[in-house]
Amino acid sequence: MTLAPPAARFGELTIHPDISRAIAELGFMAPTPVQTRAIPVLQAGRDLFAQAQTGTGKTAAFAIPILEKVDAVLKRPQALVVVPTRELALQVTREFGAIGKYRKSHEVAIYGGVPYGPQERALARGTQIVVGTPGRLLDHIEKGNLDLSGLFVVVLDEADRLLDMGFAPEVRRLLRRCPERRQTALFSATLVADVRDLAQRFSHDAVEVAIEPEKQNVDSIEQVYVEVLEQDKVRALEELLRRYETDQVLVFRHTKRGVDDLEEKLRKRKHNVAAIHGDMTQRERERTLERFREGDLHVLIATNVAARGLHIEDISHVVNYDLPEDAEVFTHRVGRTGRAGKTGVAVTFVGEWDFDQFDQLRAKAGVPFRREILELYDR
Ligand code: ADP
Ligand code: MG
Repeated sequence: MTLAPPAARFGELTIHPDISRAIAELGFMAPTPVQTRAIPVLQAGRDLFAQAQTGTGKTAAFAIPILEKVDAVLKRPQALVVVPTRELALQVTREFGAIGKYRKSHEVAIYGGVPYGPQERALARGTQIVVGTPGRLLDHIEKGNLDLSGLFVVVLDEADRLLDMGFAPEVRRLLRRCPERRQTALFSATLVADVRDLAQRFSHDAVEVAIEPEKQNVDSIEQVYVEVLEQDKVRALEELLRRYETDQVLVFRHTKRGVDDLEEKLRKRKHNVAAIHGDMTQRERERTLERFREGDLHVLIATNVAARGLHIEDISHVVNYDLPEDAEVFTHRVGRTGRAGKTGVAVTFVGEWDFDQFDQLRAKAGVPFRREILELYDR
């Protein structure tokens, strides 16, 4: 007799409470679009072909349903995730560990360039979730260390990169070794014909999920982040100001104090700068913004609160000097930089304490980010 599984909510999704607890601890507030669409498909046992940009939470989109279904009592591989690189194998394994913190199943990363022993032992213990690169996975199969007969699901993560890196023959060999009756899921950042071919060849009646690169004018905005130590932020900003000499740069800070402090520092360094204060009326703020747009000012500094209700859509450069406090503000800000027909740039400073929060904001924003190295650190 089976009891109906207990359930918890995660946005529109129904998920296992063990997982709900773990992702709450990880700070996931709501599922990303690809998660909302992919998870029910995998929960229903269907095959899936999902495309969404990097940083949109594709790992959890397969990790959550896999962790729900794996039977920890059975000491054998039940889920296989194929990834293109060792770094990804480790990263995905870590995410399984974090999301599966309150589940009893185990996961192992399998990749080349390291001794076989520890991987062999992990497999021999009956680890249920196996995440690996194609070559080493095949090696373990040849050696009889890895038994795929108990798999219920195979995931090809970053399928486009797997193909780009020339892994197509290995991937095909692996898939041919998997049980006929199984679920197949492909995840990809891009929708290229080769990946679609692979999906068609190796899945049955797959549900296709494609997440559009987002609403509004996001296409015309280039999202960049730079890692910068708190103590170096003024120098980092000056580097950007030099780069964007002929444009206007709108800088966001958390607090009014931070705004005042930065304004003073930049003024002392002879920048043409002004601030938008919370104690200015909306009209005064709008007028200052207008002066800025017209090129009277090079740099304008504002808090979120002060910028609220202003029309800031047509500004070429926005800098998130402090990481926005919540995803709402962030998505709004980064979505409003581009101006009609031209390309806007939004630069987000990621400080030494911001990494986790930034990852979450980025996932929520649902747009791709590019990392840039500041000249400051590039020596
Ligand atoms: P992708 O595989 O699409 O490139 P990842 O799965 O690596 O993206 O996710 C990017 C980051 O977003 C990770 O740090 C992950 O932990 C985080 N993340 C995933 N889902 C969510 C969510 N629902 N809310 C907040 N952060 C999330
Ligand atoms: Mg990924």
